[in-house]
Amino acid sequence: MAGIYIHIPFCKRKCHYCNFYSVPSPKYKDELTAALHTELRLQKDYLDVPVETIYFGGGTPSLLAVDDVKSLIDAVRENYTVIKTPEITLEANPDDIDAQKVRDLKSSEINRVSIGVQSFFYEDLKYLNRIHSSEQAEYAIKALQDAGLDNLSIDFIYGMPSLGQEHWRKNLSRAVDMLIPHISAYAITVEPNTTLEALILNQKKQPVSEAEGANEFRYVMKYLPEHNYLHYEISNFCLPGYHSKHNSMYWENQPYLGIGPSAHSFNRTSRSWNTNNMEEYIAKINRNIIPSESEILDSNQQYNEFVLMGLRTNRGVSVKAVGDLFGQERAYYFQKILKKYENKILLALTGDTYQLTDEGKLFADRIISDFFVVD
Ligand code: SF4
Repeated sequence: MAGIYIHIPFCKRKCHYCNFYSVPSPKYKDELTAALHTELRLQKDYLDVPVETIYFGGGTPSLLAVDDVKSLIDAVRENYTVIKTPEITLEANPDDIDAQKVRDLKSSEINRVSIGVQSFFYEDLKYLNRIHSSEQAEYAIKALQDAGLDNLSIDFIYGMPSLGQEHWRKNLSRAVDMLIPHISAYAITVEPNTTLEALILNQKKQPVSEAEGANEFRYVMKYLPEHNYLHYEISNFCLPGYHSKHNSMYWENQPYLGIGPSAHSFNRTSRSWNTNNMEEYIAKINRNIIPSESEILDSNQQYNEFVLMGLRTNRGVSVKAVGDLFGQERAYYFQKILKKYENKILLALTGDTYQLTDEGKLFADRIISDFFVVD
């Protein structure tokens, strides 16, 4: 199984916390779309297994006309072996969804929409500098569901000071009441060189509280499973059968091809990444050059990736799998680190597979990096 990610790097304006590659101007939209077609052709030999998922991420892919998205899907089909009914996801911002967009989406092969809701409260949207309102988010969800596009995912952000337990509880209960089958919940992080960082440093915005964020994470880990959601990856919850096939592929170390500026690709042994400069991307692609750098993953890096992806998900990591894939010496090393966690508070054992407990998920980065091998 393999997936294709297509990066659409345009936004109407930048959210204050955002460090994804996107530009707040549609200036190069036509040139970029043409370049994406060309890159799909140039990369046609990258994957050696059928494509099962196509994901339009960004940026804001819902800014593209659905006809442009359809023609990119056609280009994927022309250049790659694609299964009959792939999962095709489009990330959308609520303010882009109107009745016409819903009709257009319905007429396409897109069968999953991931909506950037973030919160249903004005104060939180303002803190984040989101461009849409809570009403637009509710309208988008309902309009898509009424049209039969009910394989929806919504993103929430928690940990911002405006949120608090009350907004957080109401956000989650509203999502459950609206029968959203997939919910991603991300802790806000103050990334370097973002507007949010500058505003906090200049005391123009309240800082983020890690303790509040941890409480909100504890709450979502309890609340959604009580409502039949499976907590299948640290930040992701789904009703049975509604996991993201595309993102699961990343977490299962399956190959994927990233198309567009800043997109990453992985073919099990190497990783590559395209330039995050749109003008350079378009200019080089127009000369049939893929503007990317790559690195071959050595055995240590492959082991680190395996542990990272296993412990972030409910799949966990088994000692046997470590031994089978990376040799007995690495399995002994893994077991040696496990001794630090033998009280089972942070890591639970089922059979010979170790998974983070809910308490462990609060310290996931620290625990996972404990298992890493560094040259
Ligand atoms: S819409 Fe998404 S990609 Fe665009 S600025 Fe906001 S967070 Fe970043």
